[in-house]
Amino acid sequence: GQKVVLITGCSSGIGLRIAVTLAKDEKKRYHVIATMRDLKKKDKLVEAAGEAYGKTLMLLPLDVCSDESVKQCIDNVKDRHIDILINNAGVGLLGPVESISIEEMKRVFETNFFGVVRMIKEVMPDMKKRRSGHIVVMSSVMGLQGVVFNDVYTASKFAMEGFCESMAVQLMKFNIRLSMIEPGPVHTEFETKMMEDVAKMEYPGVDADTIRYFKDVYLPSSIDIFEAMGQTPEDIAKCTKKVIESSSPRFRNLTNSLYTPIVALKYADETGGLSVNTFYNLLFNFGPLMHITMSILKCLTCSCLRRRTISPN
Ligand code: NAD
Repeated sequence: GQKVVLITGCSSGIGLRIAVTLAKDEKKRYHVIATMRDLKKKDKLVEAAGEAYGKTLMLLPLDVCSDESVKQCIDNVKDRHIDILINNAGVGLLGPVESISIEEMKRVFETNFFGVVRMIKEVMPDMKKRRSGHIVVMSSVMGLQGVVFNDVYTASKFAMEGFCESMAVQLMKFNIRLSMIEPGPVHTEFETKMMEDVAKMEYPGVDADTIRYFKDVYLPSSIDIFEAMGQTPEDIAKCTKKVIESSSPRFRNLTNSLYTPIVALKYADETGGLSVNTFYNLLFNFGPLMHITMSILKCLTCSCLRRRTISPN
């Protein structure tokens, strides 16, 4: 029969594209429950789903930050039966930490970390009873490697990686699979939203040098990286489909091969110096040419350091 897939954060970006890709599966193997905080934002998804809407794709409201909303949503699923849970909802946060309030930081953790924990807590007991299920989490390269001026976002994704790496062991005993997807930059509203936030930033309490490093050094190289290396939501949706269709899904799934040497550096040097120094040089010495440097790095990295990625094709 059809597998029931529930996805969080489907009004835009990667979540929308995963929902549509699975709902349009040629063999109709998925019954997709696409969820979003506010159903008023459903138009883009409904349009992209076309004929699948109402057939292999249905909508439910869900705010991953609310215990009540999460419970209500899962209670509305027939027999609370979910075969595949895809935790996609997430928010970004960029900028010097001096200018970010603890409240704002908590909001990021509330979505990116506790949002996922909340979903897993609600869905896992039924999966355990059935001795089957697959939990997928949209992490990031920044769940494995710290990135300058993304300190809090990175921390929220690291937190989730740690939580899931721990959970995966007991879940295996219940025949439940857990997979992380770790994309590099992806062209979505995520990027647009962050740039809008940056434009509004006033940098209270931040010294002039830090502001300069952020605005004149980090931002241009970050935009360069997005333009040169960015993947599309379709790419990530295809990778995700591959992961859930694999007979033995991997736990970690990097999607962008240009990032694999960067991630490998920390495993190659246990002191952490290699990672930190490389990032320092990439940012402050090669900033405007960051993506070219990263490509060269990839070519120079010996094969033992190279990490396999999951490719969309
Ligand atoms: P996006 O902003 O288009 O999508 C995020 C979605 O999550 C939005 O639809 C938003 O409404 C939803 N959301 C936010 N808070 C929510 C809440 N409390 N409850 C329910 N939904 C909520 O961005 P995206 O790039 O598609 O992001 C999807 C995931 O991919 C995120 O977890 C993000 O961290 C991750 N990611 C993105 C990139 C990138 O470069 N865009 C890279 C790596 C990982």
